[in-house]
Amino acid sequence: MKVGILGATGAVGQKFIRLLQGHPWFEITALGASERSAGKKYKDAANWIEDVNLPDYVGEMTVLECVPESFKGVDFVFSGLDSSVATEVEGSLAKAGIPVISNAKNYRQHPNVPLLVPEVNPDHIELINTQTFTEDGSGWIVTNPNCVAVPLSLALKPIYDAFGIEALQVTTMQAISGAGYPGVASLDILGNVVPFIGGEEPKIAPETQKLLGSYSDGVITEPKYPVDATCTRVPTLNGHMAAVNVKLAKKPTSIDEVREAILNFKNPIADLGLPSAPKQVIKLHERINYPQPRLHADQEGGMQLHMGRLRAAEIFDISFVCMAHNTIRGAAGGAILNAELLFKKGFLKSS
Ligand code: NAP
Repeated sequence: MKVGILGATGAVGQKFIRLLQGHPWFEITALGASERSAGKKYKDAANWIEDVNLPDYVGEMTVLECVPESFKGVDFVFSGLDSSVATEVEGSLAKAGIPVISNAKNYRQHPNVPLLVPEVNPDHIELINTQTFTEDGSGWIVTNPNCVAVPLSLALKPIYDAFGIEALQVTTMQAISGAGYPGVASLDILGNVVPFIGGEEPKIAPETQKLLGSYSDGVITEPKYPVDATCTRVPTLNGHMAAVNVKLAKKPTSIDEVREAILNFKNPIADLGLPSAPKQVIKLHERINYPQPRLHADQEGGMQLHMGRLRAAEIFDISFVCMAHNTIRGAAGGAILNAELLFKKGFLKSS
């Protein structure tokens, strides 16, 4: 399929370009960014920050304006657009009949737009049929969650299914790549921790609740539980970690029952043969000082969710940590997996 990338020059856009090299189903044929970059060769417009060489053919491509006319020849687009422009740009492409698979926050809470993690809520893709961007249904939007909601929802899914959730308390330790490029000033983050990330904490309740919600007849019914979240920026490069406490609706007889629920998680996309899917989606570490971003964020192509420190808790019922690569599982890689699921399920069709 022919694929365009919106926001191709940014940190997430570059990760799309990198991850799509050699992809068996998707080929990049159009790149878009702001007016600052449009008209330039990609190699001149982008400050390439990936640690592999920029593919020559991509470097020679001309960056396009993010308007529907630029993407007429593609089958769908990925979006790594800045949220200040994503509502208008993504909406205009969908209205022009071009499916949009987005990383931006703008449409995540729209009642007709799936917020998708394939291993958590693959059935939510049916919401696409309720969208009205085009009369014939050819243009639609699917989003993936915030880079912290991804590891959280993957970790909470087996726990929620087995025990329900009454309350959640989360403290995150988020890598600097999550702030895009140039991101956080070096003088703020080197040898330091910044105990606030603008706009991040309010996303955790609505995004995990939508992801864990049940789909029926075009509507998602969401579980509602109170969430206390503190989001911090730490001087790691990749891999967002969260320390999580959960009050469960149904009390387990022991922590081993919770461990069993996680280990026995049935991955709903395990048999679909999606190229970017990790073989083992949840890795529960038993070693007391695991997981660690530097050791584990890149495992299984950066698509695995790592859990550890699972234990009974004193105030709530259970505590654990979870961690996933924020620009792969939490952004571009997650969006590519979404596109693979949508292709497999017949929502994406090549022209
Ligand atoms: P970034 O590095 O700042 O890149 C932003 C991109 O948007 C650039 O390609 C930029 O093009 C483009 N852009 C800015 N203004 C534009 C305009 N007026 N018209 C068209 N394009 C415009 O940001 P990022 O970290 O890649 O994040 C991209 C999106 O993904 C954001 O919505 C972010 O919240 C989301 N996200 C990021 C992460 C992460 O870990 N970084 C994770 C999940 C979701 P120019 O280069 O031409 O300015």
